[in-house]
Order: sequence, then structure tokens, then C-alpha cells
Amino acid sequence: MSRATHVLQPGQPVTLAPAGNISFEIEAGQRFKLSQPEGEQVADLISFNRDDPRELLSMHSSRAVNLNWKLTAPHVLYSNRTREMWAIEEDLTAENYCGGGYCSEHLNVARYGAAGNGAPSCQVNLEKAVRGYGMDRWSFNIDACFNIFMTVAYDANGIWEIRPPKGKPGDYITMLALMPQIVAISNCPVLFNACNHYRLKPLTLEILQERD
Ligand SMILES: [Zn+2]
Repeated sequence: MSRATHVLQPGQPVTLAPAGNISFEIEAGQRFKLSQPEGEQVADLISFNRDDPRELLSMHSSRAVNLNWKLTAPHVLYSNRTREMWAIEEDLTAENYCGGGYCSEHLNVARYGAAGNGAPSCQVNLEKAVRGYGMDRWSFNIDACFNIFMTVAYDANGIWEIRPPKGKPGDYITMLALMPQIVAISNCPVLFNACNHYRLKPLTLEILQERD
């Protein structure tokens, strides 16, 4: 019995509802495809070494090895032990935030005031997604989060700002798993800023069938 929220069968896409969450397992050598049917929707992805979940995705290691902070195809993403976890093979939007982090209730309150109290967040979504493994919010951290399809400005004058996403309807990313992993995704529920262009939309996930 799987402890993930879903078992993804190769070749069978699954829709992740707006603001939803999911976890699944992937084998080394399998390809994962994440699509934005309507565009302009951000996905917060964390992943763990299935055999030892203390090893998890690290945006810091990924930036430091690639010497790049706009990771896209054909970059490789690394773990907190600086081992290869994912190879990005295709990325139509080619816009992912690689600074780590996810929206949380405390961050929303700090930025948007009382309206953030109890509002949905990626932190809560990711917690729910990994709960079946006996993990909780302390099992992962902001460095582990790859913010797929998210646009964040680093302006020359020092401004760091979330800006409207650039994904077009049907845009997708495909990533080759380089180790067996537990993957958790939050379909980002934030409406306080431009992250999802003020409307929550579905995402589609699929483990691709093996190539001949
Ligand atoms: Zn979020």
C-alpha cells in the first residue's frame, strides 16, 4: 500500500485541482511531465530520496553546481547531499523561481496582514501531501522547493518581487528522475500577489510511458 496520496500510472495523466496537493513516487529513469492547461499557474515541488528522506531537493546545491539561478532545460537539480535528483529535459515556459521557499500562513500575515490568517498556503498543502509518510512540516524546508512556472524579479536596483507568471495554455515541463523519489506538489493557492495572476487554475501531472 502506498503512503503517497496518489499512485501515478505511466501514461495516465492526473488533474491537480486549483489549490490542491498531491504526493506520488517515481522510479529512477522515469519521466515526469507537469502541464498548465490554462497557463499562468505555479507549482511548488519538493522531493525526497525515497530510500532516505533526509536527503531532499536543494535549490542552493542546484544553483551552486549549475552556477545559475534560472534553472530550466537542460539543467540538473541536486539534493542537499549534492547528488543528482532530476534532469530538466523540456521546459516550454522556461521560467522557474529557484530561490527556494513557498507561501505559508506566517509569510502571508507578514506581507498581507490579517487576511493571511487561515488562508490556504503551499506549506500546508505540502504538509498534507507528505503526511502519509509520517513526515510533517519539519521534514522539509524552503531550500527544498522548486517553484515551477513562477516569475520572480531580481532587478538591478535590488527589488525582489513576485511578478505575473508567463506560462501559456498547454505549456509543460518534463523532468527525468535520477533517483527513486517521493514527490510532493502544491498547486499554489495564493491570490494575494501576482504569483498565479489572481486566478487559481488546474495543473496536469503525468509519469510518461517509457520510450521505445
Ligand atoms: Zn504558494
